[in-house]
Amino acid sequence: MELRDFHVHSTYSDGINTPEEIVLSAIDKGLTVIGFSDHSFTAFDQSYCMPKEKIADYRAEISALREKYSGKITVLCGIEQDYYAKESTAKYDYVIGSVHYLKVKEQYIPVDEDAETLKKAAEQFFQGDMYALTEAYYKTVGDVVRKTGATIIGHFDLITKFNEQHHLFDETHPRYRKAWKNAARELLKSGAIFEINTGAVSRGYRTTAYPSLEIRQFIREHGGSFVLSGDSHSAENLCFRFEQENL
Ligand SMILES: [Zn+2]
Ligand SMILES: [Zn+2]
Repeated sequence: MELRDFHVHSTYSDGINTPEEIVLSAIDKGLTVIGFSDHSFTAFDQSYCMPKEKIADYRAEISALREKYSGKITVLCGIEQDYYAKESTAKYDYVIGSVHYLKVKEQYIPVDEDAETLKKAAEQFFQGDMYALTEAYYKTVGDVVRKTGATIIGHFDLITKFNEQHHLFDETHPRYRKAWKNAARELLKSGAIFEINTGAVSRGYRTTAYPSLEIRQFIREHGGSFVLSGDSHSAENLCFRFEQENL
């Protein structure tokens, strides 16, 4: 299998390795393509995104690495564009569109922070109804390609990040199924590719990659396609467990 990874975070956002360290690791691991996808700038939460003043440097540095290592590996400069990011994506080789927040009453609630944040958000904004929260999440996800112009849909069911360990909701519940199916149908019309994302496995939150097997089957049956993503925040986790996944 040709090894390629398009979902990689460096020190430009919340990764721990520099782009060059990542390229060298990618060459070492035998990748033919490495695509950087640091987090787009989000003014309302700057804890993990690329600072606004670093955006030009990011593109310049990845571009320089592309030249330096041409012939050894293809280096691409992408961006993981959050649904609520406002920066232009025009100058990138590709865009991963991801929903990391629920916006309720002008507040941005991170869906991948921890289980407690989701429980509190359900209490505060959805009368304790976790299914209403998942419905709001998938309503946003269904719109992510239109909003971001993405060609790759990031971690479709990120809302399940803590579900395996904390049992926040039942993934076989009719309301949950209806919510993700509506989002998937909407996104399937766009022709964008869905990720099989092993990031939460490499970081110990889940034992299986996003999305769930049931969601993958639905997407496949409806003509959608997948790309493998490591969503790595370190050079060592590039292409994490790709050999265990099927496209
Ligand atoms: Zn993400
Ligand atoms: Zn990511």
